[in-house]
Amino acid sequence: MNRHSQPELDTSPEVSDEIRKTTCYMCACRCGINVHMKDGKVKYIEGNRDHPVNKGVLCAKGSAGIMTHYAPSRLRAPMKRVGERGSGEFQEISWDEAFDIAESWLAPIRETNPEKLAFFTGRDQSQSLTSWWAQAFGTPNYAAHGGFCSVNMAAAGIYTMGGAFWEFGAPDWDRTKLFMIFGVAEDHDSNPIKIGLGKLKERGAKVIGVNPIRSGYNAIADEWVGITPGTDGLFILALIHELLKAGKIDLDYLIRYTNAPFLVNEDPNSPEHGLFMRDDDGKPLVLDRATGRPVAFDTKGTKSDLVGSHRHAGVSHRPVFQLLAEKYLTPDHAPEAVADACGLKVDQIKRIAAELAHVAFEQEITIDQPWTDWKGEKHQTMTGRPVSFHAMRGISAHSNGFQTCRALHILQILLGSVEVPGGFRFKPPYPKPASAHPKPHCGVRPGRALNGPHLGFVQGPEDLLLKEDGSPARIDKAFTWENPMSSHGLMHMVISNAHAGDPYKIDTLFMYMANMSWNSSMNTAGVMEMLTDRGEDGEYVIPRIIYSDSYSSEMVAFADLILPDTTYLERHDCISLLDRPICEAEAAADSIRWPVVEPDRPGHEGVRGFQTALIQLGVRLGLPGMVNDDGSAKYADYADYIQNHQRRPGVGPLAGFRGKDGKGKGRGQPNPNQIQAYIENGGFWIDHIPDEALFYKPWNAAYQDWAVARGIYDAVQPYVFQLYVEPMQRFRLAAEGHGDHQPPEHLREQVRSTMDPLPVWYPPFEETVVDREEFPLHALTQRPMAMYHSWGTQNAWLRQIHGTNPLFVSGDVWALHNFEPGDWALVTSRHGQIRVPVARMDALNARTVWTWNAIGKRAGAWALDENAPEAKKGFLLNHLIDELLPERADGQRWSNSDPITGQAAWFDLRVKIEKADSLPETSQPHAPAQKSPVGRGPRDVAYGGEF
Ligand code: SF4
Repeated sequence: MNRHSQPELDTSPEVSDEIRKTTCYMCACRCGINVHMKDGKVKYIEGNRDHPVNKGVLCAKGSAGIMTHYAPSRLRAPMKRVGERGSGEFQEISWDEAFDIAESWLAPIRETNPEKLAFFTGRDQSQSLTSWWAQAFGTPNYAAHGGFCSVNMAAAGIYTMGGAFWEFGAPDWDRTKLFMIFGVAEDHDSNPIKIGLGKLKERGAKVIGVNPIRSGYNAIADEWVGITPGTDGLFILALIHELLKAGKIDLDYLIRYTNAPFLVNEDPNSPEHGLFMRDDDGKPLVLDRATGRPVAFDTKGTKSDLVGSHRHAGVSHRPVFQLLAEKYLTPDHAPEAVADACGLKVDQIKRIAAELAHVAFEQEITIDQPWTDWKGEKHQTMTGRPVSFHAMRGISAHSNGFQTCRALHILQILLGSVEVPGGFRFKPPYPKPASAHPKPHCGVRPGRALNGPHLGFVQGPEDLLLKEDGSPARIDKAFTWENPMSSHGLMHMVISNAHAGDPYKIDTLFMYMANMSWNSSMNTAGVMEMLTDRGEDGEYVIPRIIYSDSYSSEMVAFADLILPDTTYLERHDCISLLDRPICEAEAAADSIRWPVVEPDRPGHEGVRGFQTALIQLGVRLGLPGMVNDDGSAKYADYADYIQNHQRRPGVGPLAGFRGKDGKGKGRGQPNPNQIQAYIENGGFWIDHIPDEALFYKPWNAAYQDWAVARGIYDAVQPYVFQLYVEPMQRFRLAAEGHGDHQPPEHLREQVRSTMDPLPVWYPPFEETVVDREEFPLHALTQRPMAMYHSWGTQNAWLRQIHGTNPLFVSGDVWALHNFEPGDWALVTSRHGQIRVPVARMDALNARTVWTWNAIGKRAGAWALDENAPEAKKGFLLNHLIDELLPERADGQRWSNSDPITGQAAWFDLRVKIEKADSLPETSQPHAPAQKSPVGRGPRDVAYGGEF
């Protein structure tokens, strides 16, 4: 080539010959993706611009889905264990043999005592199917992963206002002017929050990040509040104190839409102390401002009082708002009283409160949109207070998390910024108050289905799941006096309780997509021991373990029987309104996954989508709803179920394209072409909410009617927000000795002090059981943006971003211990010790250390080389966290959880740190290598059909 000629370059090569549209599953956000195919193989992945969730945006994980799809760690066939548990020694078997084994274990349990099966799933997106299956089996022991994730947030939101954040709702990104984000790493609701933050930045709206760690979303916040872990509740209640003091409360909103005017019994000797005054129909009463008389809260035309007193039968009653104001106006809630504990300055708390008030009340926005409320009153406009919030695990994974989350929801409500323009908005099927959810059930009947749904929302002590002798009915002790409102169960306690035989022994542990022997458990080393422990008879203490995963994760090695799942590009799924759909505040929407490539594991028996395998196992067991009268299968596979199952007449897993003509929205008979209609529509369905129904959803007549027409509700169900949660007071009354249902003595004081119907702050339990001078630091984990959620294998692209994880320490800690770059440290908690690399990070609360979660892998897992950096230098903080609190004076050990919901208190951890020798460069503890049932991945990867 001479210097004047140019090489022939194809600058726009044809990258694909076909595009297939489905839903990403590299994390839980459920973005739409366009999968580019070439010669029938996946070539690359881009975002779907038409999709309501991500509008074309794709994150690093989403792109790296191709690597996960072709990962060498994919399982290839069903397997039965042939070596010791934990060794990783398996023999591949046929699906027939796998089902024979599972049936031989499960059928006798079902016929005799279904509670001997504990079925728990991880971060899957098919909980409406798995819960239905577990209910049909008849075991009370079912839940998903919410108990160790964010049940505090979800339950607090539902009990307070009928929904929380993320799937439940979102800020009005187009209108909000001040946005506060609490305890959110850059993982949750990933692409939607990134898109939303982009909109705020474009408009110059202010973002305040409240997080001990300034990374991710907090790094781009206009103001960072580097709060001390576990003190968010103090901070929020101080904001409420300031707003009350300044009179910056939306009183009209409180009167119309909340229980602020409800009259509360104030006689401490009354068995109804703290309960609402009610009329003969059981309706709570409010004081009518015009007459001064009590009337039912929903009486048309009533303007109720927020202060006042009413005496009836010798008992005084006062409105909720008055009790609330008196509670939070006390000096112990003032910024001056809490700033030190929060690690903040008094002025900063006061200024943020003033900014919230200014934006909410001086910058209100009005939309010219008439609407009609639930009492028939017509409004010409929609008025908004453009302040919004988002929060997640950082404030909820504490033993005081439920009350902290409640406090945040109350702050939103006092500002009048929920379901208004510029505020927080619900996404269908929310709003849905606790009273509209089912109560939990535990009625076990051998050979029959459970007597109702497992999980739900208790309204008082009579709803707890206790046996006649008062012992827990569930293996995880959910819905007991220890944690009465455990709406998502306590997955993190299942293995520990099953191993201890407390409250009873089980026979088979069946888990899906839950890496319990590694990053999804507290006390990881202890859990591995429990899974492999043998009794005096030489048998495993947990006799049988069935596990389903797509990849050779750490947990696979601990199972006796493996049901291999597909990758997300090989499966059918429905992201359903019955479960966790993709709705937006302006629309109902759901979506599917479908096999853009067929499962293919050459030379092996092959894999099946777990949900298909579950249905087929259900047919083997003859479970009701899964078989016809002649015992034949009702559904051939999950796709068949998605299309033909009806949860209620006309309502099924997918809301779109229903009915024979495919025109039904939300309601309609099954459509034999429904999945094809979704595929042709880009993998999703969306139905926009009419303009007059877009805000005030709990009280908007047009929204309520629209929701009924779509099958979201069966009847209109307007309700008011619960500043004061009366069911909590019912538990407190019991703890004070009232009623037939009484807590055990050792839990009486805990119930009384924590179940306050108005939020309280108390120190995280860890702080009360360790010497805070000996363990002066808080220790946290966050999932990195590129690695959030554990079902994706450690793939080559993402390993280049995070192959190891240091422990980040603040400049103060760095200087105190004379750390130098490359140093290692010993980190010790009351439970254990780890040896890890350290790195300095100044954008960090001075009393906190932290690391990325789940970068560290066990040698031998995930088809990684045994000397991979993840196994040598990567580490888990989980080794330091005990699932139990230390023994008490009475010999009891309580779960390391929130005492209201049972949420795992991951973030209560306290540690001390000291400099360690720099050699060897291996993190400790270092579990011995597992044998990999799928061999090792290649050293180098290149695209050649498969990586
Ligand atoms: S945010 Fe989650 S669902 Fe969306 S593209 Fe990224 S990995 Fe996929």
